[in-house]
Amino acid sequence: MAQEFTIIERYFRDSGLQFSRPGIDLGIGDDCALVSLEPGYQLAMTMDLLQEGVHFPGAAPPALLGQRALAVNLSDLAAAGAEPLCFTLGLSIPGVDQDWLQGFSEGLLTMASRFDCPLVGGDLIQGVLQIAIQAHGRIPTGQALLRSGARPGHLVYVTGTLGDAAAALAMLEAPERPSAADDRQSPFQKSRLSSKQRDHFSRAFYCPEPRVPVGVALRGLASAAIDISDGLISDLGHIVAASGVGAELDVAQVPLSGVLRECVKEEAQLPLALGGGDDYELCLTVAPEHCSAVEDAVAALDVRLTRIGEIVSGNAVQCLNNHGEPVTFEHTGYNHFDSEE
Ligand code: ADP
Ligand code: MG
Repeated sequence: MAQEFTIIERYFRDSGLQFSRPGIDLGIGDDCALVSLEPGYQLAMTMDLLQEGVHFPGAAPPALLGQRALAVNLSDLAAAGAEPLCFTLGLSIPGVDQDWLQGFSEGLLTMASRFDCPLVGGDLIQGVLQIAIQAHGRIPTGQALLRSGARPGHLVYVTGTLGDAAAALAMLEAPERPSAADDRQSPFQKSRLSSKQRDHFSRAFYCPEPRVPVGVALRGLASAAIDISDGLISDLGHIVAASGVGAELDVAQVPLSGVLRECVKEEAQLPLALGGGDDYELCLTVAPEHCSAVEDAVAALDVRLTRIGEIVSGNAVQCLNNHGEPVTFEHTGYNHFDSEE
């Protein structure tokens, strides 16, 4: 792209995104960035690749997109118990749209400054809109939260509320003038949501809160953790598989927001909360002796934490209703390769 270096300078190097931070010795401008890690720390690395039309709706507001793109990566650091250090950005854009770049850069900066995580490098090409972010964090050696530590008898918890981001996607993708068939398909009771409800869902999708302080507080206390990107059943399924155990989910305990309860059809609430992705809350397992320490630590951070089940022997996630009877849900998570199966 002819203007490649001007774009990098204006929107990524000189936009405030490359602020200084202890440990970052060299950022944008050379062949590599240089990072120092104190002795006793491990580097945590994670990457998420987002494509327009697949991971976010076409014509998504650029500032919200920038915010979300970095947030989903910081969420992976949170799930490992890592503190953010810096990030790199691989960006593919269809053309040079200055307003879009300005908005996107500002959105990134919102998250970057909140989590003290400067941009240190990247790459820029012309193509379909794709955003690849690699986030780096640090963690005291040996203290990372993994998916593999859950054991029978451990309790399963989740932060925040679930299902709001999946409801948001249904809202964002709804046709302007829904037909009667669209209304039947829709998870919402009414096709018109109030502006307060729209704001709530829009925030849930575009501005997920990376649970970084929670992840840090869980070091040494949680036996396993994961962030919920594909849906609770699917993501708890990863903990269960990695740990060689099963889980029983008490679905009546799964936390739903007031807004979701108020405007989503009753029969659609649990499927959204259990199967819908994009909430970026943490799902964790805790041995009984650490439960009160975990509950206190998360309460001190003003984050809602709900006990939703228990790890058992076995190899699957089983959902139980409030009579303890097994229930099944059709849609159990997003799989990028579903259509090829
Ligand atoms: P190279 O050819 O050595 O890979 P580039 O010419 O692609 O380097 O990039 C020049 C500098 O700008 C590098 O320091 C690179 O990390 C940085 N950079 C490129 N694209 C971006 C971007 N989208 N965001 C931040 N930094 C970028
Ligand atoms: Mg080079």
